[in-house]
Amino acid sequence: MRRVYLDHNATTRMREEVRAELLGKLDELGGNPSSVHRAGRRARAHLDDARARTASALGVREDEVFFTSSGTESVNLALLGACGKSAPAEAGLLTSTAEHSCVLGAAESLAVQGTPVHRVGVDERCRVDPTEVLETAARVGAGLVSIMTANNEVGTVQPLAAIGAGLDSQGRERPLLHTDAVQALGRIPVRIDEWRADLASFSAHKLGGPLGVGILFKRRGLQLAPLVHGGGQEAGLRAGTENVPAICAAAVAIELAVRELPVAIEKTRDLSLRLWHEIADTLPDVELLGPPIESEHRLPNTLDILFGGIDGRMLVARLDLEGLEASAGSACSSGSLEPSHVLLAMGRSAQSARSGLRLSLGRETSREDIHTAVEIVKRAVTALR
Ligand code: PLP
Repeated sequence: MRRVYLDHNATTRMREEVRAELLGKLDELGGNPSSVHRAGRRARAHLDDARARTASALGVREDEVFFTSSGTESVNLALLGACGKSAPAEAGLLTSTAEHSCVLGAAESLAVQGTPVHRVGVDERCRVDPTEVLETAARVGAGLVSIMTANNEVGTVQPLAAIGAGLDSQGRERPLLHTDAVQALGRIPVRIDEWRADLASFSAHKLGGPLGVGILFKRRGLQLAPLVHGGGQEAGLRAGTENVPAICAAAVAIELAVRELPVAIEKTRDLSLRLWHEIADTLPDVELLGPPIESEHRLPNTLDILFGGIDGRMLVARLDLEGLEASAGSACSSGSLEPSHVLLAMGRSAQSARSGLRLSLGRETSREDIHTAVEIVKRAVTALR
């Protein structure tokens, strides 16, 4: 059976060039980058090079890039590390109700420690209102604002530039701005400067890189308290010997993703449009969640669709049997019985919030994949209705 993978927001296959880099570095490097002998210095040189290449692809400085184990760790380091250090703990955190569970979990942990946590809602398309973010931040005197760049479930792109510019105009009391950009890198342009972000989190496995490498951008001079203590790696921000081969491979993935972005956007947008129209034209009672299909405020690769009242997990299981790999809402919570917190935040009923099917495309998705996917979706939905 020909299988089709449309779950690229969960993870992506490692690119061939990335795999070659990873295997090459595993063969080539034997030293610890903190050792002073020749093998250690070689590992250090490659780690430095990977940092420089990552920084250049992100449009930031080398000393503003830190490697972690995941997007989740980067987010936790940004939020837990900033509160009580660069941002006064008593000033608190402002975030949104549609964030990834790693932001929500870090916020909960801060709340348990006594840090005030405030949340703004999202509209029916999952957008935050920048005016509400700015007014709330000013009213509650937030020290840190964390708004995701793009939502992993419905693909909504948030108005970060408007939020960053608005925070700047709040003057000397300006809160820090963190963005969870895990779903943005490789999908839409990453503009840390334009967003005026102080902190931004990324993950290599979402764009053809290896699993287990996260990236944190931290604006120069900003102080964070480390979460992991030990040997002082990553400029004291994240102890633990760096996984140099995987980091080098991640740098290759990021460089390629940024270089090829215009082509990737055009291709995935075209195929997503095709996928949506073919589904909507042939099946009754389907609804696309998030901004309209042609909107610039949505990720070009992500569709979250409701098929009447069909339960998302049942549909995913059926699609899997038929050869299509997809997700019911967020992959991280798809094993649970809980409705999607994102769809609930968008004002959907608990039943609707259990019904979303997420189809997310990647660079290797072909027209043939889309054709096969449409046929499988049609068969599965018809059987379940
Ligand atoms: N943030 C968003 C928006 C995500 O989609 C994900 C992963 O699904 C993460 C954070 C966590 O990234 P990682 O899997 O590298 O921990």
